[in-house]
Amino acid sequence: MSGKNASEIWDLIEAKREVFYALSDRIWDMPELNFEEHRSCAEHVAVLEQQGFRITRNVAGISTAVMGEAGEDGPVIAILGEYDALPGLSQAAGVAEQKPLIAGGNGHGCGHNLLGSGSLMAATAVKDYLEAHGIKGRVRYYGCPAEEGGSAKGFMVRAGVFDDVDIAISWHPAPFAGVNNPISLACNEINFHFSGRASHAAASPHLGRSALDAVELMNVGVNYMREHMPSTARIHYAVTDTGGIAPNVVQAKATVRYLIRARDLPEMQGLLHRVKKIAEGAALMTETSVRSEIVSGDANLVGNTPLEQLMHQNLERLGPPVFDEQDKAFAAEIQKTLTAEDIKSSFARFGLKPRMGVPLGDVIFPPESGDGTLVGSTDVGTVSWVVPTVQMRGATYAVGTPGHSWQLVAQGKAPAAHKGMEHAAKVMAGTAIDLLLDLALIDAAKADFRERLDGTPFVNPIPDDVDPPVMAQETTSQA
Ligand SMILES: [Zn+2]
Repeated sequence: MSGKNASEIWDLIEAKREVFYALSDRIWDMPELNFEEHRSCAEHVAVLEQQGFRITRNVAGISTAVMGEAGEDGPVIAILGEYDALPGLSQAAGVAEQKPLIAGGNGHGCGHNLLGSGSLMAATAVKDYLEAHGIKGRVRYYGCPAEEGGSAKGFMVRAGVFDDVDIAISWHPAPFAGVNNPISLACNEINFHFSGRASHAAASPHLGRSALDAVELMNVGVNYMREHMPSTARIHYAVTDTGGIAPNVVQAKATVRYLIRARDLPEMQGLLHRVKKIAEGAALMTETSVRSEIVSGDANLVGNTPLEQLMHQNLERLGPPVFDEQDKAFAAEIQKTLTAEDIKSSFARFGLKPRMGVPLGDVIFPPESGDGTLVGSTDVGTVSWVVPTVQMRGATYAVGTPGHSWQLVAQGKAPAAHKGMEHAAKVMAGTAIDLLLDLALIDAAKADFRERLDGTPFVNPIPDDVDPPVMAQETTSQA
């Protein structure tokens, strides 16, 4: 892209900044959880309508998912947004002390109020640019619910909603701006329900078959397996049903929930298979039966070198976000509530030398950087297995702020958050326009995509028989 095209798309972003600052603030004000984002989704629909997008509701049968499209013919560029919040993180905005608005209430502890609004901001500028220049090509905003443990994009992939998309672009709030090092783990969350037979634990223990024993033996089995699995894999569990609170009754039922994570989808699916065998072994040992049910699952992120380079070029052209003294003063107040270790590790995670007294991300972190720290999982990963995908980080909060913290919620409506969101929107829109103006870039991204996957079959971590909870609820209410 020439400098002229770039500054034109940045101007288009700036022209509508108030619309998207306000949208982000409204979403912050109505924090809604996984698959319950009805009002947040409606707010995105209203802006899509106002901006003249063609709207598809109930995407993939999920009532809180929406897609808006603009433009004609040509390639399809998808910009992905999210708007779900987290439980227990209610917090007042603009203060550097923990102060819940509603005790035990929800809060935007991952900055998804900015994520959805910033992506829609970028999509709108791309739409305006295409219209102004009569360029063939389509831009879509996908309002994706339930990223926090809901794997909604996995359901959306399964429903084929990205099948005709050429390139997917997204971002996530962070302390620094830069192109993601595409590391995220593939995961599956799965319940194991054991059923046995109750009996009086003293009078007739020989008649009982304990489901809780089976859970304990399963956990022992998995803990022995740890030595014989890839060191990058992670297995966590929580006993979600112990079968009762009375020790003098043999527990007839018990449930343990496993979260299995690995470097990539095939490795994760191999581990899942082994964990299932251990569950069957535990059932065999205890003469109980076991039934498993997948709750959610994400594929790992598949990187894309041409797209990452293109996005990084756009970042370099724009430069790091500019924050004023007031922004820095508030971020410095937030930093006072953090440890020096929090702040130092935040730099290291992005491949930067730690510097104290730097409240907000003032540099673009280098591509492919980072200390190799394993991160969690994201459902963007599942999209990246079916469409060449690129993601960036936008600098929206104080360096050192932990994810999913009250400090992160407190900064969600700050002017620095708006500026960081707008900065990310400019880079995403610039990247999208570059792709639409030079189709060879799209071809290069697709070639890289094919090469990386090298024929590895995609097995969606969401099995065919699992329904998204929103759809399930609707079915029940109709029945
Ligand atoms: Zn997030």
